[in-house]
Amino acid sequence: MASSDKKGDANATITDLRSALDLLRSLPGEYVETSVEVDPQAELSGVYRYVGAGGTCERPTRKNGPVMMFNTIKGFPESRVVIGLNGSRKRVGQFLNCAPERLGHLLKDSVQQPIAPVLINQQQAACQEVVHLATDADFDLRKLLPAPTNTEEDAGPYITMGLCYASDPESGESDVTIHRLCVQSRDELSMWLTPGRHIDAFRMKAEAAGKPLPISISIGVDPAIEVAACFEPPTTPLGFDELSIAGALRGHAVEMVQCRTISERAIAHAEIVIEGELLPDVRVREDQNTNTGKAMPEFPGYTGDAKPALPVIKVKAVTHRRQPIWRTTMGPGEEHVNMAGIPTEASILSMVERAMPGKLLNVFAHSAGGGKLLAVMQFKKSSPADEGRQRQAGLLAFASFPELKHVILVDEDVDIFDSDDVLWAMQTRYQGDVDTAFIAGVRCHPLDPSQSPAYSPSITQEGMSCKTIFDCTVPFHLKAHFQRSRFKVVDVKRFLPDFE
Ligand code: MN
Repeated sequence: MASSDKKGDANATITDLRSALDLLRSLPGEYVETSVEVDPQAELSGVYRYVGAGGTCERPTRKNGPVMMFNTIKGFPESRVVIGLNGSRKRVGQFLNCAPERLGHLLKDSVQQPIAPVLINQQQAACQEVVHLATDADFDLRKLLPAPTNTEEDAGPYITMGLCYASDPESGESDVTIHRLCVQSRDELSMWLTPGRHIDAFRMKAEAAGKPLPISISIGVDPAIEVAACFEPPTTPLGFDELSIAGALRGHAVEMVQCRTISERAIAHAEIVIEGELLPDVRVREDQNTNTGKAMPEFPGYTGDAKPALPVIKVKAVTHRRQPIWRTTMGPGEEHVNMAGIPTEASILSMVERAMPGKLLNVFAHSAGGGKLLAVMQFKKSSPADEGRQRQAGLLAFASFPELKHVILVDEDVDIFDSDDVLWAMQTRYQGDVDTAFIAGVRCHPLDPSQSPAYSPSITQEGMSCKTIFDCTVPFHLKAHFQRSRFKVVDVKRFLPDFE
C-alpha cells in the first residue's frame, strides 16, 4: 500500500533541536527530565556523569544513557538545559535515519553530495525572536547564558556546543566548527582554537590586516549539524563549509539568517545565537577569573590546562527563541565520541576506498579514544596479494585524520563495535614483535597527556606522538588455522518467542 506517511523519517521530522527532542520523547528509554533545581556550576555535569556520559568519562558513568533535560536552572529562570543528545550511537542513527554501524558510510556519502546553506529572512528566523544588544545597560553574558561550569576547578562557564561560523576575509568562504569558549566578562568570550583549525586561519588573516573577524555562535540546533560540523581536513579542506554536509544528510539546505549586529550569518533555527567579533591583537588568560590553572574537561578524559593567551570574542548581541533551550556537553563522553568519531570514520572510509576499493569493510572510531585517538578497522583480505595492504590501509587512516594515534586492524569475522571481540582478535591473532608498527615523531593531539616530551624521548614537542598500528589480522597464508568454532545456525525465537 502506498503511503505518504513520513512518521519515523527523521529527515522529514527533524528541523531543529525541539523536533529532535520530540522524536526522542516518542522512543522508549531515550529521554529523561528533572524539574529539581540544578546548579549549572559543577552540579549539572556531575549529575549527567552518572546518567549518560560514558566514553572516556571517569567511572562510575553509564554508556548509552538517555538525553537529560534540566527544567529548573539555578539563577536562570527563563532557560532549560539539555545534555547528551548525541550521547549514544543508536540515537545518532535515529536522528540520521541510519543503522548505527553504517553511520560512517552515510557521512562519507554526504561529503560527496554537499548542499550549500541558504539565507532566509530575519522575520522567519526563530533564533531572532528575542534580541539583546551588548549596548543595553543591563547586558551581561553571565546572567543571560546558563553555560555550565563543568567541574569545580574549571576556568569558568563554558559554551561547549557552540557552532562557530566565520568566513575567510579574502575569499568569503565559510567554515563551521565547535570550539571551547569560556565566558570571561559581561561581553567577552575567550576562544581556544587547536592549531590548524580553519576559523583560526580566517582569524589570522583578519588580524594581519588589523581587522576584527565577525563570528556567530549558534547553540541548540538539529543534531545533523552538530555531527557535520566536526569534519576536519583533508576531508573538508579550507574553504569547505561543513554545513553543506548537514544539508546533504537532510536532503535540503541548512537555513541561515543574517545576524543583527555583524556581517555574518547564523543558523536560523538555533535556540540561541551569540554575535561577536574576534578582536585583532587582543589576548586573554583563560582562567583570569578563577586562577585555577585548569580549563575544562576535554575529550581524552583529562581537564585541559588553562591557556595563557587566547583570542577574544567581543560580543555585540545575543538573540534567542522564546524560552530558549541551552545545549551543552561535558567534554569526555560518548557525545564527543560520536560527534568527532563518525566524521573520522567517514574520512578513513573515503580515503581507503579510493586507494583500494572494497577492502575496508568498516571502521569504528572507538569510544576509548574519544572518537579521535583510536580506530578499529575491519579489513577483508581476499588473496595472497592483499597481505600487507591492511597495514597500507592503516597508514592511509593516519593520513586521512591527523589526530588519530592508534589503529587496530581486524578481519571480516570480528565485530568492530564489540570491544571484547576486538581484544579477542588481539589475544589470538597478534604477536607483539611482528604485528606492531611504530611511526614515531608525528604530529597528533596535545590534549592526550602522554603526547609530551616529558613522556618519551621521541617526542620533541607537545602534541607529537608515536603512531602505532596493531595488526590483529590473520596472515593470509594461515587463514585456514584461524576459523572460529562454527555453531549451528538456528531460529532462537522458536524457543524464546520474545528474544531480540
Ligand atoms: Mn573546516
